[in-house]
Amino acid sequence: MGLGPVWKLRQQAVVQQEKIQGEAGGWIELKQAVPACTACGLHKTRTQTVFGVGDENADWLLVGEAPGAEEDRLGDPFVGQAGRLLDAMLGAIDLSREKNVYICNVLKCRPPGNRNPEPDEVAKCTPFLLRQIELIGPKLIVAMGRFAAQTLLNTDASIASLRGRVHQYAGRPLIVTYHPAYLLRNLPDKSKAWADLVFARRTMAGL
Ligand code: SF4
Repeated sequence: MGLGPVWKLRQQAVVQQEKIQGEAGGWIELKQAVPACTACGLHKTRTQTVFGVGDENADWLLVGEAPGAEEDRLGDPFVGQAGRLLDAMLGAIDLSREKNVYICNVLKCRPPGNRNPEPDEVAKCTPFLLRQIELIGPKLIVAMGRFAAQTLLNTDASIASLRGRVHQYAGRPLIVTYHPAYLLRNLPDKSKAWADLVFARRTMAGL
């Protein structure tokens, strides 16, 4: 991924976080700040930003990677086939973006051609996610996919090695699972993703 020095990326994220906290008191300010953001080069190629969707007081927060083409076009995260799969899996444990889950991505703008996000883009955008977490106050975070998991946990470890354990992010328990788009291409892993959701539900019940 061409990572730069981690301390420098963290420093950039801290500066951006302070700027956002200074400018954005609550949801209204944050929802104005994201569409206006030009902090990284992705603002030049986006159709629109993709902020997030769901219950703003949810106990569950699901975090993916970045908007794809459909999300960029429609302005909502996890739409299309992957979104429908995610909604079906959530529905099976009585969760839904309509009532008790919030869903967003690490990046709020689409990387061209769905390429992997660059480290400086993540550093510039992460403070928005941190602010969302502060405002939502979720009890549990689910990181969906390699990129979200590696970014939020600051690791190069594989999804396989990160699954099945309770990690921490921003002072909250975090569980790792596969990205729904990956599951569409690798149907046998759906049962593992289901096991991850059941594990997450058990973890939530024990909080
Ligand atoms: S990806 Fe994030 S940091 Fe970059 S322009 Fe979009 S909102 Fe701003």
